[in-house]
Amino acid sequence: MSDFAIARRRMVEKQVQARGITDVRVIDAMLKVPRHKFVEAALASQAYSDYPLPIGERQTISQPYIVAAMSEALQLKGDEKVLEVGSGSGYQAAILALLADQVFSVERIPALARRARLVLNQNGFSKVNIRLTDGTYGWEEEAPFEGILITAGAPEIPDSYIKQLAVGGRLVIPVGDRGSQILKRVTKLSEGDCRVENLLDCRFVPLIGAKGWESE
Ligand code: SAM
Repeated sequence: MSDFAIARRRMVEKQVQARGITDVRVIDAMLKVPRHKFVEAALASQAYSDYPLPIGERQTISQPYIVAAMSEALQLKGDEKVLEVGSGSGYQAAILALLADQVFSVERIPALARRARLVLNQNGFSKVNIRLTDGTYGWEEEAPFEGILITAGAPEIPDSYIKQLAVGGRLVIPVGDRGSQILKRVTKLSEGDCRVENLLDCRFVPLIGAKGWESE
C-alpha cells in the first residue's frame, strides 16, 4: 500500500467511522478517492488531515468528516441524479460520482471550475459535469434531482433548490450567517410539503450569488 493509501485508511477509521459515519458506500468512496490529487502538490502531505485546506481564490476543500457527513445525509443508493453547488477542488464531486448515477456540479470561480474539471478527468471521474455559473439558480435544464448538496453557506434556502428537488429527494445545505451555519437536510415529501432537519454545526465559506450572499 502507498503512503497515501495508508493515510487515507487512517483518515476513514479515525475521522469518519470513529465519529459515527456508517454508510458503507460512503466509507468505500472515501477509501477510493485520492484526496491528495485534489489539493496543490505542496499540500498533498496534509490532504488526509482532520481540517479543511486552502485551494486558492480564498476557498477551501472541506474537512474529510464534513464531506462524509454531507454525503451520508443524502442517503444515496446509486441510481440518482445529483446536483452539487460549489465544485471547489472537485473532491466532493468525485465522492458523489461513486455514490450516484449522474453528477452535475456548479462553480462560480473560473480558475476553480477549470482545475476541478481537469483533476476529475485525470483521475477517472469524467462523468461529472461541471458548469461555470451562479449556482444559486441550481441547474434548471437538468432538474429534477434526487439529491442536491450545497457546499457553501447560505443566508436562507433558495427556492430554486426546492423547486429542482424531486419528490422524495433530499437537499443538504448549510444555512446561517457568513461565518457559521447549521447543516440542514430538507426532504421533499410532496410538491409543496418538505421536512427540515438540523444535522450539525458547521463553518463554510459563503454561497455568493443572486439568491445567496453579496460578493465582498
Ligand atoms: N465541494 C468543494 C470541494 O470538494 O473541494 C468545496 C467547496 S468550497 C467549501 C465552496 C465553493 O463554493 C467555492 O469553490 C466557491 O467558489 C463556491 N461557490 C460559492 N458560491 C457559489 C455559487 N453561487 N455558485 C457556485 N459556486 C459557488
